[in-house]
Amino acid sequence: MSEKLSFVNPTANSPWGTYLSQVDRVVPYLGPLARWVETLKRPKRALIVDVPIEMDDGTIAHFEGYRVQHNMSRGPGKGGVRFHPDVTLEEVMALSAWMTIKTAAVNLPYGGAKGGIRVDPKKLSLQELEKVTRRYTSEIGIIIGPHTDIPAPDVNTNAQIMAWMMDTYSMNVGGTATGVVTGKPLHLGGSLGRVKATGRGVFVTGREAARRLGMDLRGARIAVQGFGNVGSVAAELFAEAGAKIVAVQDHTGTIVNTNGLDLSKLIPIANKEGVVAFKAGGDIVPNEDFWNVACDILIPAALEGQITAERAQKTTAKLVLEGANGPTVPTADDILAERGVLVVPDVICNAGGVTVSYFEWVQDFSSFFWDEDEINVRLDRIMMNALNQIWDTADKHKITLRTATYAVACERILMARQERGLYP
Ligand code: GLU
Repeated sequence: MSEKLSFVNPTANSPWGTYLSQVDRVVPYLGPLARWVETLKRPKRALIVDVPIEMDDGTIAHFEGYRVQHNMSRGPGKGGVRFHPDVTLEEVMALSAWMTIKTAAVNLPYGGAKGGIRVDPKKLSLQELEKVTRRYTSEIGIIIGPHTDIPAPDVNTNAQIMAWMMDTYSMNVGGTATGVVTGKPLHLGGSLGRVKATGRGVFVTGREAARRLGMDLRGARIAVQGFGNVGSVAAELFAEAGAKIVAVQDHTGTIVNTNGLDLSKLIPIANKEGVVAFKAGGDIVPNEDFWNVACDILIPAALEGQITAERAQKTTAKLVLEGANGPTVPTADDILAERGVLVVPDVICNAGGVTVSYFEWVQDFSSFFWDEDEINVRLDRIMMNALNQIWDTADKHKITLRTATYAVACERILMARQERGLYP
């Protein structure tokens, strides 16, 4: 945020600024509900916590942690926790707001929230990582809970970290509260299908978008940025459908193979050492060249702000599937639209993760667990229904899928806001 700390003054080119301009674009489609739009332009609540731990070498380290509850008009806050050295309050604000839009877009009974710790988890021992996680959970324990705000995994967090969060919260309240976080290990109230859910949602929405564009997935060339839980799973599913993964970029670099990378060999190597370690399977190229690789589908599945105006000009893709949150800046969005490139926006494209998180939470409350087929069938149905509704809205108003998603989502959120009324 600008030097004057304020919700409404975003830093230039920041994710929060991107989000605010996305909201501005939807106002003409909100009708009388536009009266309430200001409610979306500020978080309901933002908590900054100090996370002190004793490191293995005996020194005391302090990390900064955040939990932002952007909106709870439609239900408890929901959203992941990110561990990354660049995390800021302003970034977490944007990520929490995108959760509000996302849960409403797929019509889950949640609001939006997000958390983060400014830390590089790769530099911590397992014991230090556990301490950071537990102390952070304890500090945000005053605002999270199974009925108030339910964290989940995000960048650099996983099922083990969710298990520690669940345990810490449970110890503090004196019971076992499995429903306080989602993305937990399977035998601790986790759900089948959760790990692959985000990637699967990217595939399901992408397959439908390709069908509507008349693009055959067989032989389609795909470039994937980010090869974690989202990018690698989506790549696998597209490859199974006959597509060729021609370029992959992760934090170690970029690998290209115009005949298609062999994922059965790439994925195990990438999981351990990063994509560049798979030298034998393709050419290593400078990172910026990733955006020039000839492709039909581009899947940004890493961090925010990756598709800049310049990169939007360069890409040869006809379809962009936003596996990441906030990967496209507003100027790039305009360029892609002008160039006729279809963008399936983050707030629908990557909603598969939070959808199966919702299934997990429902299963925890009922203490009755579903099989994986049931989960995938329900996931696909929710994603397809949401996408079809958004597509109709886009066609009706002749607007982008992003603005259409915001129109559908913001109507639900602001209707709930209006019906609840202002307190006091
Ligand atoms: N971190 C994921 C997201 O950005 C999932 C959040 C959740 O499951 O609550 O959508």
